Amino acid sequence: MRKARAIVTNSGGITCHAAIVSRELGIPCVVGSGNATTVIKTGQVVTVDATHGVVYEGDLLGAEEKKEAVQVAAISTVSYTPTGTKIYMNLGEPGMIEKYKDLPFDGIGLMRIEFIIADVIGEHPLYLIERHEEEKFIDRLASGISRVAREIYPRPLVVRFSDFKTNEYRQLKGGDKYEPQESNPMIGWRGVSRYISPLYAPGFRLECKAIKRVREEWGLKNVYVMLPFVRTTWEVEKCLAIMKEEGIERGRDFKVWLMAEIPSIVFMADEFSKLCDGFSVGSNDLTQLTLGVDRDSPILPAQDPRYFDERDPAVLRSIAHLIKVAHRNGATVSICGQGPSVYPELSEFLVRHGIDSVSVNPDAVAWTRKIVAGVERKVIMERTMKDQKEGEPGLEFD
Ligand code: PEP
Ligand code: MG
Repeated sequence: MRKARAIVTNSGGITCHAAIVSRELGIPCVVGSGNATTVIKTGQVVTVDATHGVVYEGDLLGAEEKKEAVQVAAISTVSYTPTGTKIYMNLGEPGMIEKYKDLPFDGIGLMRIEFIIADVIGEHPLYLIERHEEEKFIDRLASGISRVAREIYPRPLVVRFSDFKTNEYRQLKGGDKYEPQESNPMIGWRGVSRYISPLYAPGFRLECKAIKRVREEWGLKNVYVMLPFVRTTWEVEKCLAIMKEEGIERGRDFKVWLMAEIPSIVFMADEFSKLCDGFSVGSNDLTQLTLGVDRDSPILPAQDPRYFDERDPAVLRSIAHLIKVAHRNGATVSICGQGPSVYPELSEFLVRHGIDSVSVNPDAVAWTRKIVAGVERKVIMERTMKDQKEGEPGLEFD
């Protein structure tokens, strides 16, 4: 992907990983075209307008426009406006931190480690264990994480344990031996269900060892973790027990978050709150599973974009409920799905409901901070005016 000037795919929705990674790398990307690989011929020159999702035949940009396009893609590093709500950044490619480190973020709210595993390690963890090469996995993962943690220290870095699906794990070297074929990997052997399974737990333990190395041996105590695709409380309990055995246990300076991606975590927010320090809303999966829409399929959204929309009232109501119940139990709530990076009004909704932090793509950090600062001021003004009205009825003119 890093070599490409633009990316056009046949399948995929706006929250698929091709879209997320290309955005992080600053590469224009159009997903779900349906027929790009048959319509576009090898060697053909095209111009990609990713803002409007159009691919033109030929080179339509003059030299001046090309310069402009690069400038538009450049990330603005506006000054830091303090906000009560923390503004975090999502990151997957550790090397990109050098480019983004001066953006006004308070920490990393989601570090996806799948890119380190696929790119830098490239081999299935169980395949490495079979060959007694565990150290390769631990060291490379720990190095990738520490590269980011060091750069942003002492701001927090929330590492999400791996969330590959079985079809993605199969693509790693040696993966076909260990990964079953699933008809619906999106709702299959993913996240915590893998970590606690005897068939994968040894692989998960390598991830825990990498976290321990970064925190204990290299002293980067700003590294916390987050569990993806959490379905039930009992699996979280089992997972925390494995982590404890590996020497990483929840404590004052080591926070463990749960991703809120499955409606069960919203319904059972009370119970889940007791098992974690905070939640991070994975709005890509939460929208998919609340509305029952495959996030990677362009078919329904092509018929009506409302089929996959994080602003759907059912999704918003879930998030608002989670914030309320989590706060009642002393747990924090963040969000790290694509939603707030795409829809500024979502940040307004979240701030009004008291979310603790919003984690967005690098290109959205600066403007999200501005929006959040504005909403916070507006909320204070509204409250002051309400208090005044109640206290001094004589001053009411309307
Ligand atoms: C999400 O589901 O919103 C999320 C952040 O995780 P991913 O996109 O990697 O599934
Ligand atoms: Mg997810």
